[in-house]
Amino acid sequence: MEVNKITSNKVNTRYLTVKKESTTAVSSANIDRSDALMKELNIMANRNNISFKGSFELNLSTDELEKRTNKDYLITKKMLKADAPEYLNLEEGDKEALKHLVKAAYILEDINMKIDNPHNIPFREYLKSEVAKGNKNAELTKILFDAQKGINAIDNMSNKINLAKGYTEHPGKGVYPEDLSKEEFHQILIKMLNEGKDDEVKKILTQRSVVERNGDELVGIDYVDKFKEEFSHMADELDAAAETSTDRNFTKYLILQAQALRMANPMLDAYADKQWATLQDTPLEFTITRENYEDEMTGTIVENKELSKMLEERGISPIPKDFLGARVGIVNKDGTEALMAIKKYLPTLAKNMPYADEYEQNISTEGDTKQTMVDVDLVAVAGDVGAYRGGITLAENLPNDDKLSLQIGGGRRNVYHRQIRFISDMAKLQERLDAILDKEQHQYYLDEADHWFTIGHENAHSLGPKKACETLGKYRNIVEENKADMGSLAFVDLLTELGMYTPEQRKQIIVTTMTDNFLKSKPTLSQAHRVRTVMQNKYFADRGGYEITPEGKIHVNIDKVVPIAKEMLSEIIRIQLDGDFEKAEKYVNDNFVWTDNMELIAQKLQKVNKALNGRTESELAEKLLSE
Ligand SMILES: [Zn+2]
Repeated sequence: MEVNKITSNKVNTRYLTVKKESTTAVSSANIDRSDALMKELNIMANRNNISFKGSFELNLSTDELEKRTNKDYLITKKMLKADAPEYLNLEEGDKEALKHLVKAAYILEDINMKIDNPHNIPFREYLKSEVAKGNKNAELTKILFDAQKGINAIDNMSNKINLAKGYTEHPGKGVYPEDLSKEEFHQILIKMLNEGKDDEVKKILTQRSVVERNGDELVGIDYVDKFKEEFSHMADELDAAAETSTDRNFTKYLILQAQALRMANPMLDAYADKQWATLQDTPLEFTITRENYEDEMTGTIVENKELSKMLEERGISPIPKDFLGARVGIVNKDGTEALMAIKKYLPTLAKNMPYADEYEQNISTEGDTKQTMVDVDLVAVAGDVGAYRGGITLAENLPNDDKLSLQIGGGRRNVYHRQIRFISDMAKLQERLDAILDKEQHQYYLDEADHWFTIGHENAHSLGPKKACETLGKYRNIVEENKADMGSLAFVDLLTELGMYTPEQRKQIIVTTMTDNFLKSKPTLSQAHRVRTVMQNKYFADRGGYEITPEGKIHVNIDKVVPIAKEMLSEIIRIQLDGDFEKAEKYVNDNFVWTDNMELIAQKLQKVNKALNGRTESELAEKLLSE
């Protein structure tokens, strides 16, 4: 799972789109006939693997494009530069390996573009040809396309951003047929199960297949088979990197990963993941990220009682589809050493989880934690992990609970993204604090404390029930991310007692976290990560975790925060253990309340911070790609 903390100053966050169906920004009634026709042609073209170049129309006006690409509205996160000492200090063999890893990452980016939206790559080609003709709007649109890595995204004010007129987002993204409704999806599955096609249904409902129509049925094609050429090209790059990599364990991982890309066999991925999760003292970092936040189709199955029961009887779990990313970087030794401080406390934290005697955890309550953690200087974040859609991934704890490697004894690995978390504008941060936080508590706001909170968040993903919670449907990620946040906060007092944090640091984590829980705008229920932040904020408000001063500033009641977090953590763990969709729904609805105070602070945040989205700049990666 990734960290998705939404902070108003940094936008270094990922939102999650588990939304109600068909909330498309442009309804079909608004698309004129020619748009509709072109769209049909493109859907047909896509089925036949051809593209209609020149068939798109840009959706945003010149004014809107100029605004959204202005540096105040589009922030830039800079990955390592070509002359970065971290790179220059690498051994020659690792420098050579890094070049191949960057190439592999961008091959995966193109694959992810296809599973995100089948029109992404034709649209990108269209933009390139228009830019070549001198089309200024196409040039600006391409900046946004490259930032959000696709036609559709959301900005940090919860606006849907659609770059090509008429090409709105589908719940099944690019992994289900565009014209497949939730209802038809369920009906087809019921029909196939009634005809005894259990194995075919299983292939449709794994996390690693593209689902296509096959007559009046559906068929699931494993990613590795569907994108055979791209994956084998990527495997070649990994093998090439393995030839010069200087670290034995890392080399072993690369070879296993390359094998997993050549043959559609989940066990090969499990072997690669298992090796990957052991990597601690390696010079280089390479990860294929597989997360299922984007798929809004598979999770709807739990809402259909008849179908859910049929699947359960046959032992088939519908697992949302993975979206793919690649992270390339250089492990930062000092940063990593700092992270490791928490490691020895993990078994104690596991022991102190609510209802700990009722479930097995990823972290054992004694002995080997099977969890590695590294702080990484980023060279490239490609595909899903690098897409800026209202925010970007700050850290990740992988593999997720639905992955096979965890069943064969594999552990997990946390990777923290240095270039994403760095704040470039301290003056802006001060301006924000002046606007929203009680002056006497400014002393406790510390940017570094946000990183400590993130460390707690990532590790908390490994605590609690070791199961994927598919039965919670569209609420599963809200609940899981809420658990990680509250787990991070709930243990602050214990970790202070144990000596990991000083009393001063304890106050800093609490005040910083509570302050950062205020959002710039009211989210829609579709934005799960923001939804959970609002839920927490409401929960703390009801229990006196903070108050708003007469001057309209946040005042955190420091000593109340951790007990409230513990209470919320218990409630969340109970929901995960019960696995009851209705209970999860009620919990979310009861707590997802945007209060007047939240609106008051939001108005202030909007004045200070104009950013609507962001992008990454990858100088070293681009240089390596051209070599
Ligand atoms: Zn998380």
